[in-house]
Amino acid sequence: MSALAEVIETEDAPDTAPAQTDGFHLIIDALKLNGLTTIYGVPGIPITDLGRLAQAEGLRVISFRHEQHAGNAAAIAGFLTKKPGICLTVSAPGFLNGLTALANATTNCFPMILISGSSEREIVDLQQGDYEEMDQLAIAKPLCKAAFRVLHAEDIGIAVARAIRAALSGRPGGVYLDVPAKLLSQVVDAGLGERSLVKVIDPAPAQIPGTEAVKRAIDVLKGAERPLIILGKGAAYAQADDDIRSLIEASGIPYLPMSMAKGLLPDTHSQCASAARSLVLKDADVVVLVGARLNWLLSHGKGKSWGPPGSKRFIQIDIEPREMDSNVEIAAPLVGDIGSCVAALLGKIGAGWQAPPSAWIETIEARKRDNLSKMAGRLGKNSSPMDFHGALGALRQIVKDRPDAILVNEGANTLDLARGIIDMYQPRKRLDVGTWGIMGIGMGFAIAAAIETGKPVLAVEGDSAFGFSGMEIETICRYRLPVCVVVFNNNGIYRGTDVNPTGGADVATTVFVENARYDRMMEAFGGVGVNATTPDELARAVAEAMDSGRPTLVNAVIDPAAGTESGNIGKLNPQSAVGKKPKAVG
Ligand code: ADP
Ligand code: MG
Repeated sequence: MSALAEVIETEDAPDTAPAQTDGFHLIIDALKLNGLTTIYGVPGIPITDLGRLAQAEGLRVISFRHEQHAGNAAAIAGFLTKKPGICLTVSAPGFLNGLTALANATTNCFPMILISGSSEREIVDLQQGDYEEMDQLAIAKPLCKAAFRVLHAEDIGIAVARAIRAALSGRPGGVYLDVPAKLLSQVVDAGLGERSLVKVIDPAPAQIPGTEAVKRAIDVLKGAERPLIILGKGAAYAQADDDIRSLIEASGIPYLPMSMAKGLLPDTHSQCASAARSLVLKDADVVVLVGARLNWLLSHGKGKSWGPPGSKRFIQIDIEPREMDSNVEIAAPLVGDIGSCVAALLGKIGAGWQAPPSAWIETIEARKRDNLSKMAGRLGKNSSPMDFHGALGALRQIVKDRPDAILVNEGANTLDLARGIIDMYQPRKRLDVGTWGIMGIGMGFAIAAAIETGKPVLAVEGDSAFGFSGMEIETICRYRLPVCVVVFNNNGIYRGTDVNPTGGADVATTVFVENARYDRMMEAFGGVGVNATTPDELARAVAEAMDSGRPTLVNAVIDPAAGTESGNIGKLNPQSAVGKKPKAVG
């Protein structure tokens, strides 16, 4: 063979050799095949190239500053889209940071998949001290719905398929997928790799309720004199919006939306009983739970707020059979997916259905009128410094004028009061602290909401809550997202007025730097910062931000003495049994 022929043959070699692929590409291909085209993560060893290649292959890869916020973004993307949100983290510490979000997603029934790089199995299992050594699979297992590890590239297709099914089927939740560094660079024949991929068919199959169960529920409902429907975030997740609205309107039953179910029907709907919440919970005789658990957020369905023991019967719609009787007896369990269950009930509520007695409706109406007029007076105040009501009155109008905007909300007083004051008009527009009532979801949720929906996002944050994810405003600016953050700045946690009881130099444990200017953080990254001291200023700044779509942070100066301890869940704070509680207000 001539020297020239030899050169040509070498150059030709790649064409004739069997094409190859590797773990990196198989993960990307498996996600793409299943329509999962956005990854939220933080780059680093060993997954930096996975992010790079994913971007090169056309996926949207959003890099965060901290994994917890990438995880929260993935979780809420799952809630908004009914597809598992994907979070990508590095090994050990990055994995642990993401794990908080994975556990929170599972608790909230949000589908997500945390894909984390990990160190070498052989070294980890013998505890020989690998770089970022940690038995991640074992740690993740109790904190999520399912956890898998993949050791062979040709198993990636199956692993991703199982992760998707586990996240979406039945009660949705978080899934962990462990990808050791070695897996990523494993090479396999491209044809074999392609054939190993799995497109998941019908990952959340309809679960039709039994005929008997539907009949039982209807019988209980027919016997009601003071019925009430409670809509939870499961109902929002289910995307059965039209049928849920029809069920409420056709039955004439008053309803109460849980926080993230607000807007399934507009909060201004005549049957919405939010403004008479304590009355309906106490006095209803039959309560229909639609994708809402009787957990602490509903006082476990018993106790003083629910009226005398035995005064109620419950109908519960849920996809998880074990949810029934979790706190109180459920007279009519309706196990199935919300769409199918609501449709089944609707089928029985036709002509001839008796609307609830008018006395019940009128009692609720009267209480609503009373409470709403009391509130109205407080919302219009244009004082400086602002109190919570004055500031929230301004934001209430902003949302009313832009009903398709998404509201993210966290804090203590900022959360409790905003939930009551800001009406929602469309489904899945209110995203908040959820089942755990946690702080730290703010910027992660806001980023994913903007990415997934393309709508403007308003994040209403207590100054303490904002601190947990505040660095992600750089991410908001970097991706030029239409997010307006409003920090309710009252100089501290609950309030900014606590004093150190010893008189020592340290400030009280709940106090922050006085008169901090959070707006300047946003300016540091090229966004718009505004310091607002009156509701008018606040309204102007937020309206401008929502309409321009420019990343904006408004520092809303709130009276430091305006808040109350732990918002409206102060009773959950155990108090010292010995000695007196340190004097709180200075
Ligand atoms: P909230 O906090 O708004 O009261 P929860 O998170 O307590 O709501 O309850 C949501 C419930 O909805 C969970 O028990 C979950 O199993 C259920 N759920 C979620 N998705 C569906 C669905 N598609 N069909 C039926 N139930 C669902
Ligand atoms: Mg505060």
